[in-house]
Amino acid sequence: MAECVIITYSGKCFWGKCIFCPFGQREKGRKSCEELKREVEEKIKKCKEKMSFDDERRVLKFFNSGSFLDENQIPAEFRKALIDIAKEHGFNSVVVEVVPQFVIEKREEVCSLIKYALNQGVELWFAMGLEAADDDILAKINKPFRIKHFVEACKIIRSCGGKVRTYLMVNLPFVEDDVALLAKSLAFCKDHADKAVLINTYARPGTALFKLWLEGKWHPISRREFEERVKKALELSGVCEDFVEKYYEDYVCPPRIPKKEREFLKGVGREYLLHPHFNVWHDYIVKVYEPPSFKKFALFLPCSYRKPYSKSATHRAILRKLVQLPFYARIHQIMISNAGVVPREFENEYPFNSYDWEEWKETEEVQKEYCEVTRQRLENYMREKKDSYVLWFAYLKPDSLSYRALMDAARAAGVEIVDCVDHKIYSRIKGTYGKHVLTHPELLDCMMKKIKECIEKRPDFGDEKG
Ligand code: SF4
Repeated sequence: MAECVIITYSGKCFWGKCIFCPFGQREKGRKSCEELKREVEEKIKKCKEKMSFDDERRVLKFFNSGSFLDENQIPAEFRKALIDIAKEHGFNSVVVEVVPQFVIEKREEVCSLIKYALNQGVELWFAMGLEAADDDILAKINKPFRIKHFVEACKIIRSCGGKVRTYLMVNLPFVEDDVALLAKSLAFCKDHADKAVLINTYARPGTALFKLWLEGKWHPISRREFEERVKKALELSGVCEDFVEKYYEDYVCPPRIPKKEREFLKGVGREYLLHPHFNVWHDYIVKVYEPPSFKKFALFLPCSYRKPYSKSATHRAILRKLVQLPFYARIHQIMISNAGVVPREFENEYPFNSYDWEEWKETEEVQKEYCEVTRQRLENYMREKKDSYVLWFAYLKPDSLSYRALMDAARAAGVEIVDCVDHKIYSRIKGTYGKHVLTHPELLDCMMKKIKECIEKRPDFGDEKG
């Protein structure tokens, strides 16, 4: 199948209140028919540079975040014009986005549009976000319609020769048994629609769902969990795989906290360990984020008081050494901190660049909690990323809480950590070298030696020269 996807903003969704949707709230001026035609022509031109028209099915998807049938978003005269443009450019299938109410309200226009398209040799598909075949859940996630409206809209579309493409969401909030709900929704869609599209629910900043995430009332799932749930739901519903399309990553993004909600997180204790801004990032890093595929060696490092970490004396000394390794680019540096498990590429992101953990204020109880939370976070990371790395290294003070948490987590996750600190040298120098002990040349040389030796032993990487 060859496809060209056009996403446009014109007017504002009549509803704008679905709790997961960042698009419905956007307000743009309504575009005229001429403006929309120009935009579509331009986008098709770009698509055509990449797509092959040898495929039997050539699909033009037109999404406007709301409803294609809403006069306040799309001028009536553009509807047929879109079909004409599609035909002119050799598309034999067009997908537009609608909300059931508009289909019901404009049933005659819908039928005549479908027939007009069919006469031109174009199949017209109506994409409707049902999300879940359950009225209670639809009410809780604030959808603007209920199942009876969806069923009626499907009947209208299909009785006129149109097709229905339904969107279902995996991992919605307020759901007790996601697999059971998904199975029920799939079986329902099989009776009323022509295709089901399974979308991984994700909370974009600024949405009501993002607030639920910050409150710990909803959490994202990993690709593996998404696939597992879909597989089980398909088995349970008896719906065959050909009926569904799956999209895990279309809406995922780092959980960037809106600027006006950011704060400098200075202090110690539970509040600064389990702050919602750290927690959502931890969920993202563990469940959603995938380390760059070429980074095959994990290296755990301590955090630093100075931010970003790479500007601190300890990190500068470590980096000056690491860059000399021929496989430096393959080493994934990951910092351990009260803020969580922080891959180097996020060190400049809020909240990782805006906190101070005042170590000197730690009590025994705080230390215990730090160890437990950090151990759990590290275990989560190691379990989820087990297949991402071939070797795991650590360069941490052996008497630090982070070291203890890491080693406990590694044992629980079944991961072998290569400890790059020579304990004998460390014990000898730690009293005289102060807080920057990890910058001691002897320790750094040992770290380099350990990393080199271990990587060079690997037949798949040993002969790499960077
Ligand atoms: S109806 Fe569609 S575009 Fe509007 S808020 Fe809901 S999901 Fe978003």
